[in-house]
Amino acid sequence: TFDVHVIGGGLAGSEAAWQLAEAGLRVRLSEMRGGGDSTPAHESDRLAEMVCSNSFRSDDAEHNAVGLLHQEMRDLGSLIMRSADAHRVPAGSALAVDRDAFAAEVTSAVEQHPKVEIVRERVDALPDHPTIIATGPLTGSRLAEAIAAETGEGALAFFDAIAPIVHRDSIDMDIAWMAARWDKGGKDYVNCPMDREQYQAFVQALVDGEKTEFKDWEKDTPYFEGCMPIEVMAERGPETLRFGPMKGVGLDNPKTGRWPYACVQLRQDNALGTLWNMVGFQTKLKHGEQVRIFRTIPGLENAEFARLGGIHRNSFINSPRLLDAQLRLRSKPNIRFAGQITGCEGYVESAAVGLIAARYAAAELRGDRLAAPPPETALGALLGHITGGADAETFQPMNVNFGLMPPPEGRSKKADRKKAYTVRARSAFADWLADPTAKELA
Ligand code: FAD
Repeated sequence: TFDVHVIGGGLAGSEAAWQLAEAGLRVRLSEMRGGGDSTPAHESDRLAEMVCSNSFRSDDAEHNAVGLLHQEMRDLGSLIMRSADAHRVPAGSALAVDRDAFAAEVTSAVEQHPKVEIVRERVDALPDHPTIIATGPLTGSRLAEAIAAETGEGALAFFDAIAPIVHRDSIDMDIAWMAARWDKGGKDYVNCPMDREQYQAFVQALVDGEKTEFKDWEKDTPYFEGCMPIEVMAERGPETLRFGPMKGVGLDNPKTGRWPYACVQLRQDNALGTLWNMVGFQTKLKHGEQVRIFRTIPGLENAEFARLGGIHRNSFINSPRLLDAQLRLRSKPNIRFAGQITGCEGYVESAAVGLIAARYAAAELRGDRLAAPPPETALGALLGHITGGADAETFQPMNVNFGLMPPPEGRSKKADRKKAYTVRARSAFADWLADPTAKELA
């Protein structure tokens, strides 16, 4: 017996199960990995596996919306943030983690919680009991069909792509060097410099390289801008990469005393420091082509790849149309949605929506009222996008950002303006946290 059924043990489902259990509710957590099923992106049976980058992005709560969201989640006792903080690896002002240790920690915390039962099973239909669906961008196809049948519309889809990971000891550090852009936050990145000719040849190789073919039904699926394959950027124009992930500015090459014309950066991917991912290098080039082309990058001539890049399809529902402000399915309110399937984007955002979905469910089962977090907060802004702020006609997944919050009054310089957002947010969040049930029901 259980009070709430959580389907999907990813970033959102693990956090939701934890929050419900901490609120004293009995949870059944159904996860299909480990029960004979998997997804095209996951590699283990652990809960909260990070399938691509190992970064939770900026941890700067004063100037960055995702850093602010980190802080709000910590204030709400987030298991995902606690585990991320415990397994941090150096990454300047970003919060990057050792993905294996992180997932192991989340798994054991949830496993050991006396209120949670983890069941390794795939769920194919919409239950009639209180449920949170957190099955993510790679939701099992039968469940996706059941959701489509219930809501009367097919799930939307677009593409994300995975960046390659390189063994650190295969990087030639006589050519590459350690530094962070503008010397900010230590020397955490490996930098591989390119001169103009090398860059131009590289861009041409990306454009000419052999790509994985799309299936017919995939051809009209758009890319999410934040995760665009490197070769698609290369196709947009010869300078696109040099002003994107291959920027050389702010990176003094100790060998020349100058910034390189272009630069490939790698970021630490595990606590041991043995694996490094190529920042922004998600790709749908064929595997053999990736090895051939990426080994033309100075410093990576002999690179050994722990994992090559790939592409995947991403499903999400039209939340502004289908969900109410408490993340309940309008047509079947015993069902809540959480995580990336709601149309947020990213590990942190997914976990945050899992957290709040669980708090809404817990309040409802207790007969309490939980007010929505104010729109000035990161959590409130993100929820606003999902459940009402966005236009249902053009709804697209979104990372949390200041643009989702009401603009602060008055004019100020850019840096001050960010601070104006976060100072206001911290105060609004504190007020809400002090009395989250008192305000009008969302
Ligand atoms: P997930 O973490 O995917 O968890 C969903 C879980 O539900 C999975 O464990 C799955 O096995 C399970 N499941 C699915 N269907 C069923 C079913 N029918 N029954 C039972 N269990 C089921 N975000 C970033 O922030 N940075 C990145 O670099 C990044 N790269 C990505 C690369 C890829 C290939 C993909 C797919 C996504 C990427 N994302 C990235 C997005 C990232 O996946 C999500 O932000 C995050 O993992 C979503 O959390 P979630 O809990 O909603 O889904």
